[in-house]
Amino acid sequence: MSQLTQGGIRRMVESGGSSNNGEQPICQILTVKKIANNSGTGADRYRVILSDGEVYIQAMLSTQTAHLVEEGQVDRHCLVRVMHFTANQVSGRTILVILELEIVSGPLDARIGDPQNIEKLDEAGKSNAGNVAPSNNAQPTSGGANSSVVKNEGGGGGYGAQSMGASNAPARPAQRTTSAGIDMSKMPIFPIEALSPYQNKWTIKARVTTKSEIKQWHNARGEGKLFSCNFLDESGEIKATGFNEHVDRLYPLLKEGHVYYVSKAKVNIARKKFSNLSNEYEIAFDRDTQISECADANDVPDIKFNFTALDNLDGVEPKQTCDVIGIVEQVGEMTEITSKASQKPITKRELTLVDQSGMSVRLTLWGKTAETYGTPSGQPGCGPEDKPVIGFKGVSVSDFGGRSLSMFTSSTMHVNPDIPEAHGLRGWYDAEGNRLGAQSFKTYNSAGLGGTGAGDGAMSNKERKTIDQAKNEQLGMSEKPDYFNVKGTIIFVKQDNLYYPACPKEGCNKKVTQMEQSSWRCEKCDMNYEAPQYRYIINTNVQDHTGSIWLSGFNEVGEQMLGATATELAQLKDNGDDAAYNEIMERAYGHTWIFNIRAKQDTFNDVPRVRYNITRMSSIDFAKEGGQLVEGIKKMMN
Ligand SMILES: [Zn+2]
Repeated sequence: MSQLTQGGIRRMVESGGSSNNGEQPICQILTVKKIANNSGTGADRYRVILSDGEVYIQAMLSTQTAHLVEEGQVDRHCLVRVMHFTANQVSGRTILVILELEIVSGPLDARIGDPQNIEKLDEAGKSNAGNVAPSNNAQPTSGGANSSVVKNEGGGGGYGAQSMGASNAPARPAQRTTSAGIDMSKMPIFPIEALSPYQNKWTIKARVTTKSEIKQWHNARGEGKLFSCNFLDESGEIKATGFNEHVDRLYPLLKEGHVYYVSKAKVNIARKKFSNLSNEYEIAFDRDTQISECADANDVPDIKFNFTALDNLDGVEPKQTCDVIGIVEQVGEMTEITSKASQKPITKRELTLVDQSGMSVRLTLWGKTAETYGTPSGQPGCGPEDKPVIGFKGVSVSDFGGRSLSMFTSSTMHVNPDIPEAHGLRGWYDAEGNRLGAQSFKTYNSAGLGGTGAGDGAMSNKERKTIDQAKNEQLGMSEKPDYFNVKGTIIFVKQDNLYYPACPKEGCNKKVTQMEQSSWRCEKCDMNYEAPQYRYIINTNVQDHTGSIWLSGFNEVGEQMLGATATELAQLKDNGDDAAYNEIMERAYGHTWIFNIRAKQDTFNDVPRVRYNITRMSSIDFAKEGGQLVEGIKKMMN
C-alpha cells in the first residue's frame, strides 16, 4: 500500500479544480475502457478507474494521454503518477480528467488494498449528515455517456476549459442569460450524446441544422400544429419537436444554421419512424423550455453527415432517408409536372450524381430549389460546367428506376462543403473521374442493380461469369465498359511496380518525385513533402476452373488483398526485411474472392486490348455460395 499516495484521490476531488498544492499522487489503474467515438471523427478516448488503495474513482484520460493506452503503457493494474488533472463537478458528481501522467510501474499482479467507490462513500456520508442527495443524481454511476459530461466549475481559470476540448466542454462565453433573465451559466453544458431521460438539469449548445415548416394535424383525438428541428453539436445530433402553443413561442426564435443554448425540455425515447437521426432519444419542448441564441458558435460544427456511397444505395430500403455526397455530373432542365396529390403544378429538376464507386444516380430537386439551382440567389457555383461536389443530408430513397433520390422538405444540400469526403471526391474527379465520361458510370435500373450488391459486394448471379465466359463473350471489347463478377483464386501478384510513391495530400494521389533525402515533390500540388505515401497498383493473376485472367486494382484493392498498406510494405522492403515482406505477399496467394470487374478496351502501342479492373472485391459468404451451388445442382438433376 505504501506505493500509492494515501488520500491522494480525495485531495484531487476536493481541490475543486486543477491545483493540488503541487501534489502528484501515485495511483493504480484498475480498469481501462475505450469510449466509442460516435462522431466519426477525432481520436478515441479512454475512461479509467483510478485507485489510491483506499478509494477509487472514474476518470477520463485527455486525448493527449490516450496514446499511452494505445502503446500499452497504461494498462490494468499499472501504477501512474498523476501530474496534471482537473476535477469537475457535474450535477453533484466529480469527474476527474487526467491531463498528464507518468508511468511509475508496469502492471502488478492485482489491485492494491481494498479500495471503495468514493461516490458511494460520499453519498452515505451525506445521508448520515442529514443532507438529501439531489434527485437528479440518481443516474447509475457506470452511466455510459453521462460520465463523459464535463463542466468546468470555474476557479481553475481558463486552463481546465481549454484543456478539455476533447470532453466537449466548450469555453463559456460571458452572455448566458435567457430572455427570462435566468443565468444559463448556472447550468452544466451537456454534449447532446449525454442527454437522457434520467437527467433533467442540462443545457445544450447546438446548431439548428434543419427546421421544418409548421404542420397542422387532425386525428381522432383532436387537432393541432407542430414543428420540429434537428440540433447538432460535436458529440451528436438530436431531434426536437414543439406542439401547439410552444410552436407560437419557439418557432420564430429558431433559425436554421444558428447556434442556441437550449435547456429545460423533456428528453423522450425517439420515435424513429419520424426521424432520420440515429439518436435513441429526442427532445420535446414544453412551457419551461428556454432557448437563447449564442453568439460564440465557433466550436459547434456545421453539419453532420452519415454518407451512403452511391453503389450502396440498393442496401437502403425505399422511402428511407440517407445522406449522400457526389459530383454533379449532369444538370437537367427545369420541368413542370402536375402533382397527383394536389393537382397543382410543381417544378422539378434532375441532377446526376457520381462518386468513386463508378456509379451514377439521379436526384430530383423540387419547387424553389429546382428553380434557383445554379443561380446566384440559389446555389452559386452549380452551373452545368462547374461539376461541384454536393453533400445532401436526409434525401429520400426511391426504388423508381432501381434506385433514385429525391430531396424533400427536411433535406438540405451543401455545395462544396469543407469536409474530407468532399476533398477526396474533388481529387478523384479532377484526376480521373472527369475523363471517364458520363456514359461510363454504371446506373441503377429498374430490373434491380445489375452490379454491385448491398454491403457484401456480391453481385447478382446474372452478373457472375466464369473466366472463360468473360473472354468468350468478349466483355469489354465494345465502346462501353462491361461489368461482371468472377469468383476466383489469386495465384500470383506481380511484384514489379507493386506500388508507387504518391502525394500524401488527401485526394491527390499523384506520383511524386524524390528531390533529395527527405523531399518528395508533387507537381500537381506544387509542394514538397518529407515522405511520400505509397499506393498500390495491383496486377494479379486469378484462376477459376475454366481459366485464368490478369486483373488490375488500385490502392484499396491492394490493401484488402495483402492486409497491409503499401507504405508498410515499402518500409519492410527498404529495411531489407525480406522475410516479413514475403510473408505479406504470400498471404494473398491461394485466397478466393469475388471480384467485381470493369472491363474496358484501351490501346497500348496501337494494339487494342481489354483491361480488367477490380472495382471491388469481397470475401465469400460460404453458406450463401453453398446454397446457390445446391440450386444449380438441383437444376441439373431435373
Ligand atoms: Zn499532390
